[in-house]
Amino acid sequence: MPLKGGARQRVFGPVPSRRLGFSLGVDALPFKTCDLDCVYCQLGGTPHKTLKRKAYVGSKEILDELSAALQGCRGIDFISFSGSGEPTLNTELGAMIRGAKKLSGIPVAVITNGTLLWHPDVARDLMAADAVLPSLDAASDNIFEKVDQPARGLSLEKIVAGLAAFRKRYKGKIWLEVMLVKGYNDSLEELRRIKACIDQIRPDRVDINSPVRPSDKKVSPVSASCLARAKALFGPKAVIIGGAKKDARSGAAARLASKIRADQVAEMILRRPVTAEDVRRSFGLGPSEAAELLEEVLRAGGIEAVRRSGRVYYRGNRHPRRRL
Ligand code: SF4
Repeated sequence: MPLKGGARQRVFGPVPSRRLGFSLGVDALPFKTCDLDCVYCQLGGTPHKTLKRKAYVGSKEILDELSAALQGCRGIDFISFSGSGEPTLNTELGAMIRGAKKLSGIPVAVITNGTLLWHPDVARDLMAADAVLPSLDAASDNIFEKVDQPARGLSLEKIVAGLAAFRKRYKGKIWLEVMLVKGYNDSLEELRRIKACIDQIRPDRVDINSPVRPSDKKVSPVSASCLARAKALFGPKAVIIGGAKKDARSGAAARLASKIRADQVAEMILRRPVTAEDVRRSFGLGPSEAAELLEEVLRAGGIEAVRRSGRVYYRGNRHPRRRL
């Protein structure tokens, strides 16, 4: 079973996403290749923050795997580039987006931390996507340092200016995510400063989020009243993100593979901690089928079950970290 050292899958899911419906994920990076080390990151700490852009994984490898995965899929809302790091660090991202669009009529989204859109090559690569989902967690340098722990050389001013310049040229949707972390970026003053950045960037939607899934650092979600305050402040384009709505069993979407394997479930878990319910929804399984597969995944190793906010999450084992 690939959990213990087999070839790594680059295409995973479909994953029920709160923002993209059912999305088939593409991960074109070695594990945790990122220029940030966000306190709330579900993948654990960033071992070596990097600003180096290169072809970490080639577009041919990605598109071959995507083509095979699409044979077994129906009802996918988006092909999304995300996964285990910052996708815009891959210099072949533009070729991958264009190739993915040629393979199917499915819209392509890129989930990015938004730190590199000032870079002309990154902006050019993203032009082919149907939706770009950048993050903005802070508007003050000291809070940016605290929440996102950026690589040396990244400046918040440049990041916001890059997002605003990209907006002027880009015709697709920009859905900006603001992750509010209790005690970090939830003061009224900071929310007001973030609102000023939102006005500069002019996204199509602002998704207000707060960390509920497990991360290595102890962080807490903000209160419902703080979320409501942020929504009122950010204006009519702001939404508070709720739970994923679609259910594969109901026929909205489903991977049509004859038999879901434990390694497919593990590949999804390694990109994002999930509950048994997420697994059930993603793969169109009954509760007992999902439970059996999760048992198998845990037995194979590399995945652990942890409890957060009264729910059991399955995630990549942190001790020791499994290298992908
Ligand atoms: S949350 Fe995203 S941007 Fe932040 S450290 Fe994790 S992978 Fe990087």
